[in-house]
Amino acid sequence: MDFSVELLRNLPWHAAHWHELQALRARHAHAILLHGPAGVGKKGLALDLAAAVLCEAPVEEGRACGRCAGCILTARRNHPDLRIVVPDRLAWLRPEDIDVDREEELPTRGTEEASGRPSGEISIDDVRALVALLDLTTHRGGYRVVVLTPAEAMTAEAANALLKMLEEPPPRTLFILTSDQLDEVLPTVISRCMLVRVGLPPQAVALPWLRAHGVEDAAQALAEVGGAPLLALPRTHLPAQVRRLLRAALASGARLDAVTVGAQLPRTVVVAEVICLFLRWAWDLLALRFGGSVRYHLNERDALVRLARQWSTASLLEWIDLLLRARASAEHSLNARLTVEALLLEYVRRLRADNLGVAT
Ligand SMILES: [Zn+2]
Repeated sequence: MDFSVELLRNLPWHAAHWHELQALRARHAHAILLHGPAGVGKKGLALDLAAAVLCEAPVEEGRACGRCAGCILTARRNHPDLRIVVPDRLAWLRPEDIDVDREEELPTRGTEEASGRPSGEISIDDVRALVALLDLTTHRGGYRVVVLTPAEAMTAEAANALLKMLEEPPPRTLFILTSDQLDEVLPTVISRCMLVRVGLPPQAVALPWLRAHGVEDAAQALAEVGGAPLLALPRTHLPAQVRRLLRAALASGARLDAVTVGAQLPRTVVVAEVICLFLRWAWDLLALRFGGSVRYHLNERDALVRLARQWSTASLLEWIDLLLRARASAEHSLNARLTVEALLLEYVRRLRADNLGVAT
């Protein structure tokens, strides 16, 4: 199942596991294996932990701040001290595959094998490629993090190559593995890791989250999949026409009419998914402001370049902060269209204020 990665981040039922992970970090664990049933968000938790380790200004409970350079690089999963090792079928977790907005326009990538199906294995070459990372000093002076998922996808050779690294762990390096099928992971690899079990969440936490993500009969849907919330999600992301509407709105900059756009949105639009799109837009703007290039919204490059000149970095960071807070409370928003409209109004308000600043 494909997800937008942002959907998997900071899941509400991971709070207890987070404390356990912080305790392991305090003890300088160098390898952590998150295991438990499929559909509980272990990959997301692995990425949350990676982000926290690579954050340059962690906030309460050791969580990632979400706004430092380390966090921005991690969110795009192209932090130079982060490696994500996944089989091809999980290519959407890799940095080069995170462009959901381009999916509809691009032909199938060339990562598939002759069978026509993406490979389900992590090969020895995938693991050997880590040596280059581990041999160097870290780029940003902190930790190096390797997220490898799922551990059972490693071939025997790959598992043995990894085992060598785990037996003589490089300094300031954290390996984070996940597994749905612990009995298929090499026992010697398991014995080198600190194990954290991520079980099924309580319904009281899972159901509101599912409702916030557009699942109508959440209790029934959750029951049908045995209690694993991510398996109960609808498989669709934002419909293409909604994405186009929102991108065009953002691209229109200070001329954007937030109320009209809000009225054009479907009543059932999923706020969390809209915020994902807005965050990517903001990250593109931020990248341009720091001399980088557009990553997510290539078709709107011209508009982004123009807008990046109009926004101040401080004001842009404030909007990102607003988006992150809105995402945290997305499941409580009573009216999806009004919530999106309010976020767009803030976008326009800040953009206009910055423009005035430029003019005077
Ligand atoms: Zn940070």
